[in-house]
Amino acid sequence: MILIKTPDEIETMRRNGAILASVLDAVCEKVTPGRSTAYLDRLAEEMIRKAGAKPAFKGYHGFPATLCTSINEEVVHGIPSEERILVEGDILSIDVGLMRDGFYADMATTVPVGRIGEEAEHLLSVTKESLWRGIKQVKIGNRLSDISHTIGSYVESEGLFVVKEYVGHGIGKNLHEDPQIPNYGPRGRGPRLQVGMVFAIEPMVKTDPDPTRVLDDGWTVVTATGGLAAHFEHTVALTERGVDVLTMIRR
Ligand code: MG
Repeated sequence: MILIKTPDEIETMRRNGAILASVLDAVCEKVTPGRSTAYLDRLAEEMIRKAGAKPAFKGYHGFPATLCTSINEEVVHGIPSEERILVEGDILSIDVGLMRDGFYADMATTVPVGRIGEEAEHLLSVTKESLWRGIKQVKIGNRLSDISHTIGSYVESEGLFVVKEYVGHGIGKNLHEDPQIPNYGPRGRGPRLQVGMVFAIEPMVKTDPDPTRVLDDGWTVVTATGGLAAHFEHTVALTERGVDVLTMIRR
């Protein structure tokens, strides 16, 4: 069942989303060759706690950190580590969530570490664009799978592949709520979109077609043949005025 949020609840989620966006922005500014992913994780946790919020992922099914940091062929759920030092040319996916006043926010981005290659540039720009195309489908009259179809067909048209094993989701008082939002599929299926629905839309895109696998650490998802992967995510609400991206810095 998709839980509908009131305007007040969406306002709370908007405040949370703004905090989360500032945290991720600050973390991204510190992404540079020579830095460990554990350093970024500490920075994020400090900022989240200072804002009176709680890291959403830490302890979630036993995940040990505030951020998921996934480098190059790592798709999602990478664990920050002192030993993992960023290198010029890497791409780093950072996924972060928080909970405050009873509501969650969830977002992700993939950033270059110094100068990156052409294939990586293309992957990042397509994944980001696919997220925004998906977000534009969040409107009255559309069905849920219009988001999925728009993301998947665009990614495919660019010669890249969406990850099918992991999906976007509803979000609110729980980090993961109904519905699941795959990044592929036909249009015109699933529930009609309504005011008060809040979704975390999160295309994960890779350069190789085969299914992902999970490393022995039990968390880190990697591409099958070592191809690069990227991940972008926003928490968005459907309001009377249309789609509202909640995970944005407000000034
Ligand atoms: Mg998510």
